Amino acid sequence: MKDRYPAVDAFRGGEKVIRIVGHRGARGLIPENTMIGFKTAVSMGIHLLEFDVVLCADGFPVITHNHAIHAPTFRIPETDCFVTEEPKVLDLNWSELQSFEIGRLDAHSQYGKRFPDQLQLDGIKVPKLADLLSYAEHLGDQKIYLMLEIKSDPAHVKDAEFRANLVAKVIAEVRTFGLSEQILLHSFDWQILEECKKQAPDMPISFLTQLTENPSDVGEDSSLAVGPHVENVEAIPEMVHERGGSLWCPNVCDATAESIERAKQLGLVTAVWTANENDEIDKMIEIGVDAIVTDYPGRVQQRLMIHGFKWST
Ligand code: MG
Repeated sequence: MKDRYPAVDAFRGGEKVIRIVGHRGARGLIPENTMIGFKTAVSMGIHLLEFDVVLCADGFPVITHNHAIHAPTFRIPETDCFVTEEPKVLDLNWSELQSFEIGRLDAHSQYGKRFPDQLQLDGIKVPKLADLLSYAEHLGDQKIYLMLEIKSDPAHVKDAEFRANLVAKVIAEVRTFGLSEQILLHSFDWQILEECKKQAPDMPISFLTQLTENPSDVGEDSSLAVGPHVENVEAIPEMVHERGGSLWCPNVCDATAESIERAKQLGLVTAVWTANENDEIDKMIEIGVDAIVTDYPGRVQQRLMIHGFKWST
């Protein structure tokens, strides 16, 4: 059965098929949320990409994970010096943002030590959302599908006008590039998703949830500050369904066989994040998720092959 949204079908698994979503491109291998990261992932056969969007001071969306620039990844060009202050992206204009390089990790930081296989590159800058959308448009028939995470600024979480403007800016860019059939609007902030549904009923919405902190993501997401308070994972699929969601994206530590089964009964596509270790990837295969969001696409490919699964049809 075809979904009313083509992008949702792209993330739906099937008989012995589980989809692979490149997290921030392929963070384990290439600098995160960069054009070279996205292009490399696509060249490796990963056609489902997850990435994060916030607004800069010039009022347009840029691709970066945190609301403030992230010291372990933002470097002064042509030096080995990583930043020591973390101003908010919303307070930096485009030229200020472009004054940093983001192609290396501070090898001495806790964050840097988590990704010892990541290539260290020079001359890499924060991309605009428009850069990735333009790339996707030019790929033409070789379609890629984008899990576009709209980051909710905890400082503006109660500000309906801020939220409406953020969503409007993102949706306008997606429309400019004619990519509404290749986009999932994805967020921890369910109020943002409600706004997306209002402004763009032609684009599917994807609900992120987190009950338990995953060692792969600890301290990286402000989900608890912006998402609804839920203690029972089994209750979430109904909540997502009632709100018109197409995808439910639980943290890999929270997903259970029962909750995934319930989501399926409701017609939801399930995409778990972020599964990087073999044992958690195996568990997700066993409980029958539709898609696995990972920093290491090759690892997931290997586990799928071992279990007799494919990632494409
Ligand atoms: Mg994200």
